[in-house]
Amino acid sequence: MATSNATPEDAPDEPVSARPEGVDATSAAIAAIIDPLTENARQMSAIHAERARLLAELHRLGQQPRIIAGLRGDPVETGADDPDTQAHGPAWGDVELAERTLATEVAGALRLHSTTARMMIFNAAHLVEKLPGFQKALAQGRISWAHVLRMQDVVTGAPAEVLPALEAAVLPKAEKLTATQFGRVAARELERLHPVSLQERADVGASLRRVVLQPDVDGMAWLNAYLKADEAQAGYDRLTRIAKSLNDADTTDQPADGAEGGGEVVLRTMDQRRADAFRDLLLDGECAGGMGRGIRGTVHVTVPVLTLMGKSFEPGMLEGYGPIDPETARRLAGTAPSWDRILTHPETGCMLSVGRDSYSPPTDMKRYTEIRDQTCQGIGCNRKATHSEIDHTVPWNKGGPTAVGNLVHLCKACHRLKHQSSFSTRQTPTGALTWTSPGGKTYTREPANPIGGTSVRTEVSPPQQPTTVEKRPAEVPNPTPPPEIDSAPPF
Ligand SMILES: [Zn+2]
Repeated sequence: MATSNATPEDAPDEPVSARPEGVDATSAAIAAIIDPLTENARQMSAIHAERARLLAELHRLGQQPRIIAGLRGDPVETGADDPDTQAHGPAWGDVELAERTLATEVAGALRLHSTTARMMIFNAAHLVEKLPGFQKALAQGRISWAHVLRMQDVVTGAPAEVLPALEAAVLPKAEKLTATQFGRVAARELERLHPVSLQERADVGASLRRVVLQPDVDGMAWLNAYLKADEAQAGYDRLTRIAKSLNDADTTDQPADGAEGGGEVVLRTMDQRRADAFRDLLLDGECAGGMGRGIRGTVHVTVPVLTLMGKSFEPGMLEGYGPIDPETARRLAGTAPSWDRILTHPETGCMLSVGRDSYSPPTDMKRYTEIRDQTCQGIGCNRKATHSEIDHTVPWNKGGPTAVGNLVHLCKACHRLKHQSSFSTRQTPTGALTWTSPGGKTYTREPANPIGGTSVRTEVSPPQQPTTVEKRPAEVPNPTPPPEIDSAPPF
């Protein structure tokens, strides 16, 4: 179902005299539809909550001995005594028999595949039993079903004991953010609460690295890319041949810049060698004719200062992904010849404002807002800040300064919407951006990232290759007033 982008707030007490004639009629006409639409979304959430309650109730039924007894078939056919039934495989246990039977009952009633029905029952029971706060918020229409699904994705595999604290911490965010935005916040919060460190889990994950080739229909196959089946097969075969040719004698763990403990021979499994070959070709390989030569992927990581100094195990944040283990974050920081420090205090030297001296923000100011915003700050928009433009919230030609409290990232589409429509924005010094819609509603985007880390932008190479850092063009001060639509060059 559709999700609301933000929680509607009361319209601000702004003077309306400056608004063009006809605006109030426009606003009223739009609000006459948006208000019942909001109510409709609330009701749909409540209906989802009721469905979850019913399915969870069915799940509970399937755990009651008297119900299980009623679900068993003819004793002769249960499989325990009957060689014919045994021929179809061992008989299911009570719990599995109940789950499958009741799921099929739901599948028939709702015209679903039984696997879909079983998953629905599982999710419903999980919601009602493990996330009661989310169930209640859904019933009251404060969050959508999409938020529930995102929360369940995030907590997959998380220990049950962290769920109550996680739920309490992130539910208020679910009421404010889109499901996608909420998922990122919830994943970050889970890292804070998880009893097993991300480093330990990442180490286990890395040991399981592998390349998987999956045949698909219509002459296609998956090799983590949708390719022609023959090419996928050939690629997989080549990786296997390369992996076989890799001599593990020289795949020792290289010591990191004078650190102790390097030089140890680490034997890699065939799966690991194939995955490493895949990574090296992807990051450093060239296409026919030398295409791709010199083109390197860039990632953007924020590392807490204490983690960088090795005094904390707080995860780094990989833009577009989420938390990453401290060791990888430190390695990325260590292989970058330099990195931008994103500073929280004026005395640390970060320029937070150049006032009216320059229209274009200097590099460190751009980086500050980029880390703060992470994404376009348009309503419900998730385009990366790095692919967005910088907007002066109070326009330069109306006296707006070039200062972090007046700069915000907007993608091209959101930027145009702001300038060309009757949407308008207000910004707080901390970067929260409030949009006022033509329908008279206001929607606030809080800054995506509390700033306090050290930001690293680095090109990614296989671990033992030298790494270079993206070069930024030198700043050219531009005191000239801008054209009507203010924008900054992409950076
Ligand atoms: Zn946008």
